[in-house]
This record gives sequence, structure tokens and C-alpha cells, in this order.
Amino acid sequence: MLCELTEHHVTTVVRCGTLFDGTGADPVTDAVLIVDEAGHIQAVGQADVVAASPQATIVDLSSSFVMPGLVDAHSHASIVPGMGDQMGQMRQPAVKQALRATANLQRDLMAGTTTMRVMAEEHFLDMDLREAIACGSIVGPRLLCAGRGITATNGHGRALSSFDGVDEIRRGVRENFQHGADHVKIFATGGVSSAGSTLQASGYSREEIRAAVEEAQRVGKYAAAHAHGGAGLRLAVEEGVSTIEHGALVSDDELQLMIDHDAWLVCTFSVLFHPTGIEQGDAREPAIMAKVETARATVNARFPGVLRSGVRFAIGTDSMHGLMAYEAQTLVRFGVAPRDALLAATRGGAEACRVLAETGTLEPGKRADLIGLDGDPLADIAALRQVSFVMKDGIQQRG
Ligand SMILES: [Zn+2]
Repeated sequence: MLCELTEHHVTTVVRCGTLFDGTGADPVTDAVLIVDEAGHIQAVGQADVVAASPQATIVDLSSSFVMPGLVDAHSHASIVPGMGDQMGQMRQPAVKQALRATANLQRDLMAGTTTMRVMAEEHFLDMDLREAIACGSIVGPRLLCAGRGITATNGHGRALSSFDGVDEIRRGVRENFQHGADHVKIFATGGVSSAGSTLQASGYSREEIRAAVEEAQRVGKYAAAHAHGGAGLRLAVEEGVSTIEHGALVSDDELQLMIDHDAWLVCTFSVLFHPTGIEQGDAREPAIMAKVETARATVNARFPGVLRSGVRFAIGTDSMHGLMAYEAQTLVRFGVAPRDALLAATRGGAEACRVLAETGTLEPGKRADLIGLDGDPLADIAALRQVSFVMKDGIQQRG
């Protein structure tokens, strides 16, 4: 870390009208949450602990619904899908992308996302953004970084970088880790937002996917695969990829394979369904819009069953900044109980992204990442849009 942290924050007591701690326990009313000087949760409960710490700062959320900060399990800092040509955006000069990312990350944080897994950037932009946030130069969620996406020269997700063959993949992955990557992102199938690629064809051979997974595991990390379904998804799961991203066309057999291998499904609905997503950005491209319509119909028909299958799932905005609530609302639209949608947005995301020891639930020893809502999302999931308070690492970001 090149910066010095200068904040000295005192112990904080957060009074919670309703506390949903993200562990799966029932919500409790009139709870308090104690935050220590290091920004960790010291205690959670209904006891009258305020008298015991007279110097504490009191944060009064006694008329709010308090829950863990949201974990966006799949996004990109620099992209705005509604502007169109997402890969073109990633080919721009780094400064231009960084300026866009600065606004995007602020928006995400203010909407309650305290942890975001970045799923590929060029120029190692995500590592620089992570440092700028840690220094306090800009505001944003805690970032988990991929560095450059691992994609084939003719593959989906190619902006500037591409990697063909086992040796190039090993080198690309190692360079990402040298720059401080937290995980590997590999593109195993085509995608919706590029005209040429088909959704199910595999962009990589089994050996290439295996190389990426091996290189990640060798340094104690994991690989995530962009995969909608078909051969590419199968290869990724069979070779030990931990999270499957999107999975829009996942079949019953593929779903069972994921369950057998304990792979997570990271759902990304808003970029596909929200009017400011691909539809706004690339609607003039008939080839892309045809893919959007097909994918929408398939997801609408299939996902109620997919989400009931027992596969573990988390949610991500895929660059639809500030729209985690829309992701959770879509889960509910597909039959998921509001409580389980909230868990997918918090604990599930943290577990999928391997940071559950730090965040994702409100328990002693974890980082004080929490949000306050004006409504009750268990009664109406749309209340997740009404974020009025955000705390990250014990430091108030909004409210
Ligand atoms: Zn993505």
C-alpha cells in the first residue's frame, strides 16, 4: 500500500430498528451493533451496551432496516452498458476509463454495494482503483480484482488482451497475479453483448481452461468462468472453475454437473432485462438484439427452475452500477423468497467470492459493512432500492 491511512475512528454504536444479520437467522428488532476502532464488528445483540461505552459515536438507525452491505459478485468498474459497445469502452485510454469508473464506483457504493468483484479490466485498472479507494482518493466498494480477462483472440470479452494456448494463458494469469489479482476470470463461451460469438460454443480447449484453473489454484486462488451453457460451461465446471458467470442457457444436465462440483452460479439479470442495459446500448445492432430477445425468453422460462434446483447462487450487476436491488427483485420475480434474495445479495456473494470470513454477514470479528434501508425488503423486496445509510469498514459513507 502506497498511501497512509490517517483516519482514527472511535468505537461506534449503531442502533438498528430491525437487524437482518445475513446469517439466515430471523431479523431482530431494537438491536445494537458495536464497531471497534479497526472497523470490525465487536458485538451484535439486543443488550443495552451503550452505557458501557460512553465515548462511542451513536449512529441512530432505529427507524431503519439494517443488513449487511451488498456483495456485487460480478461487475466491471469502467463499463456503462447503456453507452453501448462495451468492449470498445475497454479499449479506450486508461484515463478515460478511470474517470468513468470513478463515477460508477461511487454510484455502486451509495446504492449499498460495499464489496464488488471486478470481472476483468484492461490496463490493470481495477488494481489502481482498489488502491485509490483504500487511500481515500476516490470512494467505492472494496474491490476484488481479476486484472485482465483471459480470453481467446477470437473469443468473447476480448478488448485489448488475448491469450491463446496453454503457455500464453499461464503467462497471462501469472502476470495478473503479479499485479495483485484476487482471482482469474476466463471466458469459456460467447456472450450476448458481442455480435459474432455464439452463446454456447467453447472459446477454449479443455487444456487451456485447465491451465488457467491450475495457475490460480497454485497460488491459493480460484478461477471464475464466463459461460452461458453448452460445451464451454461443461469444460469449465469439469476442470474445477469455482463460479459460473451468467449461465443464461444452462441445461438441467449442466446444472446437475454444477451442483455435483459445488460450483456457484452468479446471476446477472439487469444487463439483460433492464431498459438501460444492452437494450439501450446496442439496440441498433440487430445481431445483438436478436441474442438479447432469445436470452430473455430463455431466462424467463428457465430460471424459476434453475433457482429451485439447489445450485448455490449469488448475484451481480455486470456493470449496471447501482442496480443490485434490481438483481434481487428479479430473483423474487423468479420465485425466490425475499429473505433468500437478500442472502444471495450478501452472504451468498461473499461466499462465492471467498470473502465470507471478512464480510457478507453482521457477526463479531467481521468488517462493519452495513446498510440502512427506509423500508422492509422482507415485506417488499423493492425496499432494497431505498438505501439511506452505508457503512464500510466501520466508516460511514452515506447517511
Ligand atoms: Zn461481465
